[in-house]
Amino acid sequence: MKKTIILIVEDEIAIRDMLRFALEPADFIVHEAENTEQANRYIKQQIPDLILLDWMLPNQSGIDYMRQLKQKSDTQNIPVIVLTARAEEDNKLQGFAAGADDYITKPFSPRELIARIKSVLRRGLLASPDGSIKLAELQLNTYTHEVTVNNQALILTPLEYKLLLFFMKHPNKVYSRNQLLDYIWGNGNDILDRSIDVQIRRLRNRLKPYGYDKTIQTVRGGGYQWMVAKI
Ligand code: CA
Repeated sequence: MKKTIILIVEDEIAIRDMLRFALEPADFIVHEAENTEQANRYIKQQIPDLILLDWMLPNQSGIDYMRQLKQKSDTQNIPVIVLTARAEEDNKLQGFAAGADDYITKPFSPRELIARIKSVLRRGLLASPDGSIKLAELQLNTYTHEVTVNNQALILTPLEYKLLLFFMKHPNKVYSRNQLLDYIWGNGNDILDRSIDVQIRRLRNRLKPYGYDKTIQTVRGGGYQWMVAKI
């Protein structure tokens, strides 16, 4: 079986060493880049299966770099896990907004890291090379932004699409209204918590004729989650 190739983009050598030490025994092939220029040089040679990307890099922030990756067709589907320091944790939803598949806060245990990597890779299997993510007959294409049910187009507003994409990429996890708001409208917005309920209601109404409205579950005191029986 082909081994999974992980590219680490991290300026601190001690953390790169720690990651290599944790990942190689778990049968991952590890490549290292100290900065985004080195990472780009590597990616030109070979597309990794996953990138572990430090948030704080010397020449360019990890988040800016991820935005670049997500804009290019050859790199936009590489799953990215962002490494953040505790103090930066408030920013992690910005990471999701820029397309991070997950984040992990330093310091973390090797076991936790490997579990996160495996979960992201499993989720990645849901998205095929043509950019589509599927749940039974519901299909979303991340390249064309088209959503179909039984191959019939489902017309969504940009906000509804963004919310559906977020849910389909992050199944079976509870997100608070605030987290979803930050994701949909960006940080520092003046929008009320309840606006997310309005968006959720609209999205559910669009999905209702096909029965997928029930996939969005309201979690009492928590927020919302996209419930998929088995991923
Ligand atoms: Ca750093």
